[in-house]
Amino acid sequence: MGKPQKRKKKTAMNKDTHKQVKLKHYAKDIDQIHADLKPEKAIKLKTQEKDEDLPGQGQFYCVECSRYFINSHSLQDHLKSKPHKKRLKELKEVPYSHEEAERAAGMTKEVKKSSSSMNMD
Ligand SMILES: [Zn+2]
Repeated sequence: MGKPQKRKKKTAMNKDTHKQVKLKHYAKDIDQIHADLKPEKAIKLKTQEKDEDLPGQGQFYCVECSRYFINSHSLQDHLKSKPHKKRLKELKEVPYSHEEAERAAGMTKEVKKSSSSMNMD
């Protein structure tokens, strides 16, 4: 007796945890961060009230990466890190705007001019 169901679908469990990790690491989309980088919003994010649920009570936040850090040391460390610099580079590029999307849509909508008015007798 004892030890029933010794093997409990370990692979499925791993897949699940993997998914959770991915979700946890997924932050915001670049365009959302562009909005966050606007001074008024960035200041709010950087000086937010203490929140027990957040790492470091939400006092160490990287706006560009929309990530919280547990202390100023890890935040400083992060600012020098590769992922952060990569993100800065991404943010320098102009975000994909609606205007651009409309322009692209307009290009596909080429009007076919009918040249049937040339009636030769
Ligand atoms: Zn960062």
